[in-house]
Amino acid sequence: PNKIGSAFLGMDILYHDAHNKPRTRIYLDSAASTLALAPAQQATQQFLKYYSNTHSSVHLTAKISSEVVNWAQKSILSFFGASEGYDVVFQGSGATSPLNRLAKGMRTLQKDKKIVMVSLMEHHSNDLPHRVHDNNVIHIPVYDKNGEFIGIDLDTIEALCKEYEGQINYIAVTAASNVSGHISPIHDIAEIAHKYGAYIVVDGAQIAAHSPLQLNQQDPARSIDFFVFSGHKTYAPGSPGVLIAKTELLNQLEPEFYGGGMVAEVSQYNYQVASQSFDKEHAGTINIPGIFMLASVLAFLDKLGMEKIYQEECELTEYLISQLTNIPEVKVYADTLKKQRIGAVSFNLKDMPHELLSLILNDYFAIAVRNDCFCAHPFVRECLVDELWDIEDEEDLPLYRGMVRASIGLYTTKEHIDALCEALKEIVTKRDFYISQYERTRDNH
Ligand code: PMP
Repeated sequence: PNKIGSAFLGMDILYHDAHNKPRTRIYLDSAASTLALAPAQQATQQFLKYYSNTHSSVHLTAKISSEVVNWAQKSILSFFGASEGYDVVFQGSGATSPLNRLAKGMRTLQKDKKIVMVSLMEHHSNDLPHRVHDNNVIHIPVYDKNGEFIGIDLDTIEALCKEYEGQINYIAVTAASNVSGHISPIHDIAEIAHKYGAYIVVDGAQIAAHSPLQLNQQDPARSIDFFVFSGHKTYAPGSPGVLIAKTELLNQLEPEFYGGGMVAEVSQYNYQVASQSFDKEHAGTINIPGIFMLASVLAFLDKLGMEKIYQEECELTEYLISQLTNIPEVKVYADTLKKQRIGAVSFNLKDMPHELLSLILNDYFAIAVRNDCFCAHPFVRECLVDELWDIEDEEDLPLYRGMVRASIGLYTTKEHIDALCEALKEIVTKRDFYISQYERTRDNH
């Protein structure tokens, strides 16, 4: 492993493959969840000695926990360039909770605007929550009329904004696709949204740990209104989902949850919601150890330097794409658009169902990848459209209905990518053998 690899749990998992050969597992599924950063886990264990509920405000450890949450709140905002005029909300166990919270809350922010624009590249968690709540969702196409992949395209967004001027509540886009890794120009999109009186909601699940971000921009028109990400994709499994929002907007959202801690005063017949946005948004006890762990990871990333991390991961991603495209039987999806990408690359191997390929990589090569449609069915279907059209026999469909995704993290090395590509080449050469192994297992059942 690279030097940094030793800082992560799970880099040394050893198991015997289907030939009974011992292998060290290679983890290429960071887009689903990143591995845990060991020093942050250890620091959290240490902190637990001093853990108490922040709701008790007098005794020693309660004060320590309150200080920890204050520190975490400030450092998370600073990490994302949102120290001024923003606040943070911790919710659930990933990005899905805060995205649902937002979709519900946005109804009251601009009551008479019913249109929400959502790109066709979104994870379901940044699409479906906006479809409920009486919204009229307009999907931003990511393929042009000739079937060319254009990604999230500014002209397309502007044209739609003109068409629906005055009716758009907000635009929800991913900062980086979990299928193709393409990075969206979020500040340019913010500028367009604001020009047309709409807000911008950014799903940062895939970008938070991989690229430096400055949510607050000198030009307020280019600043991001709402940003969401997952702690478990940021090397901190067990930490919460996070929403970072402009405080003045957060203050206008009706609370999502009611209970202790989010009220200033309660009588038998009345209650007054807390005036501080952080208090108002956190009913009940928050995930204090998880919040501490997340802020500890971000301090680690900050020390490494996000720009450096981004540059190194870009190089590795280019290497991954070039090595994959060198194999004639591999088809990499959404590859025609040469724009910036984070390290999530989806592909298929000719005449090999995606699920079987994933299994073979796990069972015979100890390589962990993800397969299927990555909770982004509309985008995956668009990517596969040419192949679906070619199919005449319905029986063949499952072969092509999904993809395999390799995705990278701080611990990924060129050797891991080489191992994946060597494995793919061997699977091509010995395709009949591998397929027969699984047919035999299936017959035995
Ligand atoms: N958005 C994107 C782009 C994602 O990749 C994911 C997770 N795959 C989510 C949202 C949902 O995040 P979570 O599973 O943490 O709720």
